Amino acid sequence: MAKYNHIDTTLIHGGIYGDPLTGAVNVPIYQTSTYEQEALGVNKGYEYSRTGNPTRAALEALIADLEHGTKGFAFASGLAAITTVLSIFHSGDKILLTSNVYGGTFRILNQVFDHFQITYEMVDTTDLAETEKAITPEVKAIIIESPANPLLTVTDIAAVSAIAKKKGILTIVDNTFMSPYLQTPLDLGADIVVHSATKYLGGHSDLVAGLAVVKDPSLAEQIGFLQNAIGGILEPFDSFLLIRGIKTLGVRMDRHVENAVAAAKHLVKHPAVAKVYYPGLPDAQGFEINRKQAKNGGAMMSFVLKDEYDYKTFYASLKLVALAESLGGVESLVCHPASMTHASIPKEIREKVGITDNLIRLSIGIENIEDILADLDAAIEAARR
Ligand code: PLP
Repeated sequence: MAKYNHIDTTLIHGGIYGDPLTGAVNVPIYQTSTYEQEALGVNKGYEYSRTGNPTRAALEALIADLEHGTKGFAFASGLAAITTVLSIFHSGDKILLTSNVYGGTFRILNQVFDHFQITYEMVDTTDLAETEKAITPEVKAIIIESPANPLLTVTDIAAVSAIAKKKGILTIVDNTFMSPYLQTPLDLGADIVVHSATKYLGGHSDLVAGLAVVKDPSLAEQIGFLQNAIGGILEPFDSFLLIRGIKTLGVRMDRHVENAVAAAKHLVKHPAVAKVYYPGLPDAQGFEINRKQAKNGGAMMSFVLKDEYDYKTFYASLKLVALAESLGGVESLVCHPASMTHASIPKEIREKVGITDNLIRLSIGIENIEDILADLDAAIEAARR
């Protein structure tokens, strides 16, 4: 459990604070691959930096505190974290996936783990009866994103975790879109939390990193073994940068969300907009569930323009909001899920779950909201056919 009652304090003082040797208030960057040993088998807790590094260890302790777990693990990317976690499964096992999951997570199962006879099935995890029915004997885990990428679909994490527990399978939650500031899935019964820390945790679009957190000691041992055996670890400098980013997560998220609520309200009443997907709007799918399990609706949203507007011209006309992969940085970003984040999902599956070609995804940054809205409005106006 976190050592402080308030996450704002844990963000700054959690994990391993500063450097006891010198009094430095920041954890030093231990830029070393190896550690001199006093004698055979005698060391100071570190032998080789793939196995353990003090800067990475500080980050791992911090994310464990923030997610209310017992053990954290840092990886070279979100997908390295997810790949390592999925490596606990064996041939013949089957994994269930939230139907609009990040394209890269789908791709690992569809094009990599299929080599090892690990199968998958996409399920609508908002439908608890359908989810329970899909848990056949070969199913060993369920991967949830809530809100999911890119339709912001909300799944009841506590309810799905309870079903999974009853059936003896693991619940893995990708908490990238919310961050531990807004939602802590281990408290809701999940077994493993993963993050693309490239996003809100890093927060400045200047690093690529992944994290995993667990509570259960046997899962901690398995993932710790796999982290070292597979070797997809986060290096010391990026571990330092990520600790630095995490310190301001709270203030950044507050501003991200304030701007996102204003942007969603603006888009909903915009005459050019056909549909807005944002879990912070009272009539959004899963609004009540999201309110129960998270602090608020976060700062990601998607929307669709009416047919009289050309979505390609909209993208090309934005000046402040950047057309780019990724999300969660201080700068507002826009992306085209069908050709970018979700391109690795076949078109028929994409269309079936609602990721249509005209879907526009927004990551609302912390710039002045009037400047963001003015840019969106000007690009919409330019897109009128
Ligand atoms: N999970 C989600 C929800 C994501 O959006 C992403 C990347 O966009 C990933 C995982 C993969 O993370 P990374 O790009 O850090 O490998």
